[in-house]
Amino acid sequence: MTGTPLLETRALTKEFRGFRAVSEVDLTVARGTVHALVGPNGAGKTTLFNLLTGFLSPTSGAVVFDGQDITGKAPEQIAPLGIARSFQITSLFEAMTLREHLELALASPTGMGKQWWRSVSRMATFKDRAMELLEQVGLADRAGAPASSLAYGQKRALELAIAMALDPKLLLLDEPTAGMGIEDIDRTIALVKRLAAGRTVVFVDHNMHVVGSLADTVTVLQSGQVLAEGPYEQVRADERVITAYLGA
Ligand code: ADP
Repeated sequence: MTGTPLLETRALTKEFRGFRAVSEVDLTVARGTVHALVGPNGAGKTTLFNLLTGFLSPTSGAVVFDGQDITGKAPEQIAPLGIARSFQITSLFEAMTLREHLELALASPTGMGKQWWRSVSRMATFKDRAMELLEQVGLADRAGAPASSLAYGQKRALELAIAMALDPKLLLLDEPTAGMGIEDIDRTIALVKRLAAGRTVVFVDHNMHVVGSLADTVTVLQSGQVLAEGPYEQVRADERVITAYLGA
């Protein structure tokens, strides 16, 4: 199935009491690419993420992931298929250490836990993998520290490591640089680039520097509909996109 897109939505629509938050969206995400979703506030980006992960059921249309129709499936059915999501709002256990966060994610049924029967020494494997993941996001030296001791940017990096613990085919990132200063933004861009190697990523971000640095393809949403789609330079120069952003 390598030729088929990893993710496709077909005329995906979500109405809230007759109001169309997502309207007939056809999204195609090719395997191994980084895809940005952008658009003004209220454009439908969060609703679309919630439809992809099963947090919301569509009113009509379909979601196809890795060749399988996942329309209307629950989050706990979708996550094990290989979709992981990192949230905009940090959701860490403040008293737990970084390594414990990773070990918990790895032991979950959607993480490495699904392969427990293959592992001779399961906990040792979790520990090694937890340290590898912390190294990937530059937090190995804080492995034994509680999450509460981390700076904001480090907490976001830990959340990326947790999402990676699920070894997802598709990584969904909800505003990975929200609330960050320029240094953390540049660190996050480099980090997402590293994590995206050989993987498929869809992310929402308002920062055009981030979008331009990371995205192979950009989809612009407005009022729940796809306004434009293509490479960043092309989309950025699109008159309709400029108008939508300037509110003209
Ligand atoms: P974005 O993430 O692009 O800012 P959202 O997906 O959050 O946009 O919202 C799209 C539109 O749908 C907005 O007008 C919002 O008010 C509306 N909306 C989102 N969730 C709900 C809900 N649960 N009930 C009613 N309206 C909603």
